[in-house]
Amino acid sequence: MKKRIYADNAATTKLDTDALEAMKPFLTEEYSNASQPYSFARPAKKAISEARGIIAACIGAEPEEIYFTSGGTESDNWAIKGSAFSNESKLAIITSQIEHHAVLNACAAIERLGYPVDYLPVSDEGIVQPELLNRYINDRTGLVSVMLANNEIGTIEPIAELARIAHKHGALFHTDAVQAVGHIPIDVKALGVDMLSASAHKFNGMKGSGFLYIRKDADICSYVDGGAQESGKRAGTENVAAIVAMAVALRKNCEHMEVNAQKLCKLEEILLAGLSSAGIDYRRNGSSNRVPGNVNISIKGVDGEMLLHRLDLKGICISTGSACDSVNTRVSHVVEAIGVPDEYANGTIRISFGTDNDEDDAAVIAKTLIDIIIR
Ligand code: PLP
Repeated sequence: MKKRIYADNAATTKLDTDALEAMKPFLTEEYSNASQPYSFARPAKKAISEARGIIAACIGAEPEEIYFTSGGTESDNWAIKGSAFSNESKLAIITSQIEHHAVLNACAAIERLGYPVDYLPVSDEGIVQPELLNRYINDRTGLVSVMLANNEIGTIEPIAELARIAHKHGALFHTDAVQAVGHIPIDVKALGVDMLSASAHKFNGMKGSGFLYIRKDADICSYVDGGAQESGKRAGTENVAAIVAMAVALRKNCEHMEVNAQKLCKLEEILLAGLSSAGIDYRRNGSSNRVPGNVNISIKGVDGEMLLHRLDLKGICISTGSACDSVNTRVSHVVEAIGVPDEYANGTIRISFGTDNDEDDAAVIAKTLIDIIIR
């Protein structure tokens, strides 16, 4: 059977084997609802508490600042709507044009309720310029939300500087760190953010689980109302198994971060050297300060959708825009925002390596692309 090469790790990752083992007991014997008072619930309760501590330590937070959610989309919605609904005197929001749709559509939803939202343009490397935020922000701004790393082009944003500007004007700062957590070092205190979104399935945890970091003193109202779980701020019976898996996967990713990054950078080099040596005319998108393993390129005169399907026939999984956008065949909002020239824009693909990939995978992807483009 043909070997599948999965190189779409920015869309999702494989569940880590240790995470799978750690979660199993909570799917079988230890299935109690963690909120119940009887002793059967104790292992579940303890596991959630330990997971909270592990995750907090991985991002420099306090355990009580971690709130479990159903993933990145919910965390982003909570951060944006929760902060908007918490402060009626500072209604305005500033975000960027290259955010994930979880942020863009949450902003669009509150815009329809009358909240003014500004969408900052970015540089051709996809960087949100602090000077521009300085120009847009005013004392009516209640929230600034800028992603830590872009899901399409991998660009890492100057979050600490942007957060300082937001705070100078009394605004809260949220960052969507879904593509960054588990992949680059993160310290919420050094970044100075008030909220940070993460999603477990981007760092070898389970799909449908994630967390929102909320700084202890930040006044953010509940977004999912119901029971008293998560200190009364996020109702709903906890997905204990997924929470346990998330903590194990994140700790493991953080422990191996440097080695993983070196390996992924090597794979990037092999792929791009292969394309260059065959004379393929491409532009690499994003800044050189990007998440490891992300290769977003625009190839002149070819159709990215065609490349995706031809690679699929060879058992290779990559992406064009972002995965959440795969039904949409027009040039992505990120490619548009960074101003990729027309003759290259349609040929944009994203290859995102993960730690399961090896050098052979990178070479095979390069060779297959060359065969498709040149023959
Ligand atoms: N934010 C970013 C930057 C993402 O890349 C994604 C997923 O692709 C999300 C948010 C949504 O996360 P989830 O899939 O956990 O809802």
